[in-house]
Amino acid sequence: MAEVSNRRVLGIETEYGISALGEPSGEELHPMQLSNHVVKAYGSVTGREAGWDYESETPLRDIRGYEVSREQAHPDQLTDSDLGMANVVLTNGARLYVDHAHPEYSGPEVTSARDVVAFDKAGDLIMAIAGAEASRRLGRPIRLYKNNTDGKGVSYGTHENYLLDRRTPFDRIIRQFSPFLVSRQVFTGAGRVGIGQNSETAGFQLGQRADFFEAEVGLETTLNRPIINTRDEPHADAARYRRLHVITGDANLSEISTYLKVGTAALALHVIEAGRLEDDLRLRHPVAAMKQISHDRHCSTTLELADGRQLTAIDIQEAYLLACSKWVAEQEDGRDGTTAAMITEWNDILERWQQTLDTLRADPMQLADQLDWVAKLKLLQSYRDRDGLGWDSAKLSLIDLQYADVDPHRSLYSALIARGKMRRLVDDDRVGAARLEPPTDTRAYFRGRMMDKFGSSVVAASWDSVILDVPGWPALQRIPLLDPLRGSQAQVKELLDSSNTVAELFTALGH
Ligand code: ATP
Ligand code: MG
Ligand code: MG
Repeated sequence: MAEVSNRRVLGIETEYGISALGEPSGEELHPMQLSNHVVKAYGSVTGREAGWDYESETPLRDIRGYEVSREQAHPDQLTDSDLGMANVVLTNGARLYVDHAHPEYSGPEVTSARDVVAFDKAGDLIMAIAGAEASRRLGRPIRLYKNNTDGKGVSYGTHENYLLDRRTPFDRIIRQFSPFLVSRQVFTGAGRVGIGQNSETAGFQLGQRADFFEAEVGLETTLNRPIINTRDEPHADAARYRRLHVITGDANLSEISTYLKVGTAALALHVIEAGRLEDDLRLRHPVAAMKQISHDRHCSTTLELADGRQLTAIDIQEAYLLACSKWVAEQEDGRDGTTAAMITEWNDILERWQQTLDTLRADPMQLADQLDWVAKLKLLQSYRDRDGLGWDSAKLSLIDLQYADVDPHRSLYSALIARGKMRRLVDDDRVGAARLEPPTDTRAYFRGRMMDKFGSSVVAASWDSVILDVPGWPALQRIPLLDPLRGSQAQVKELLDSSNTVAELFTALGH
């Protein structure tokens, strides 16, 4: 079946862990309020914010000037929508908001794995700035963590989003993508001290989220979590597209883990959509396998497939890699929206994927400079060796947490980077630019540039529209952006550059 295009739209959203130190006045702030302070603090630094448009269900909301007062807080009854929590659009095309009592950064739509890394890292930088500013305003330290569990029974998400062709049968995605998601933990895991949702068993595991998955397929994202999430909100033309909402992943600090996480998944989806996965890799017990793989740091546990074969997670990944290599070898520059740059990136992903699997097979610890879980394990082992600590030691849990602190002065991940012990894919300049400037090849370009140039006229935005208050015009104007690939730099830069006012832009658009 022909695909819409080989240029696949992708984006990652991450809920960050949050805590505040010290309650000087004895007052306790609900995490939702804390998160709101963090999001608003970032708006105050950049001076540019516009409300998020909750598609037609919720009235448009302009958050400018909105503050949640302490008197309003009834912690047991708070929900983010009742409180009108901050929810803003950034000049890089991202959304920064409060979700489930966490500050969340939803990166802009991009089309390459390397751009995912740059915009994901920009999210960490945004949280670091927001956290520092919120701490200053509140007069007490607020800590933000890029992790997915508090180790005490609570898990919060990192979601990857992949644009699919609506014609791809969803049962094929369930059958063929689920074993991929389960087995990829060997390189996507962020590492975790503690086994079980409440860390009831002492030990170390590869994934932060594995113990929180309870079903193979389902609609939920916070209860009875499924490996394949059936949520169907395409944020695009629903007749042509589906947005696959992947909730199994960990929030990665390592750029290489993030790159492999989205790069290999995007390729596997190409193969699945093209109907080119010949091997039936279905697992007999996928939910149990998720935990088995996560709990085995030697990556050698065998899993039973539905057809009776016994394979390791590495074997399963190799089967996907083989199918992806064949598919990439058949692609041509200029056909199905493929460009030379896309082929170069696919080949880079394939090569790194192969090297990673080979090294995992030989000795996972050799990947300490590339993968989060291995880097974290090596760090923890050094403390264990030095101080004779058992896996139940509180100090090890603290190191786990501190690895993920977004404040570069406190983060143990940043300390590894500073000492040249962790490889990178994008440099600080690229991340700094991605904090402010949008990607060039999707509608995020239009959204971000609108915020930058005409931010005061943007009343609200959503993934698939921008709503403007045009001076002198009687009603608000909505610009629909139903195709994620339209509104790119090549299409709208000239128009935006040559319009001095939003009214001029509108006239040029033919309104
Ligand atoms: P929730 O936080 O409840 O899971 P959600 O999944 O709808 O909500 P957002 O937090 O708004 O989403 O983030 C949406 C993410 O999906 C962003 O990272 C964005 O870049 C990406 N995205 C938006 N539209 C598409 C699309 N059509 N295809 C792929 N990715 C998309
Ligand atoms: Mg979200
Ligand atoms: Mg989501």
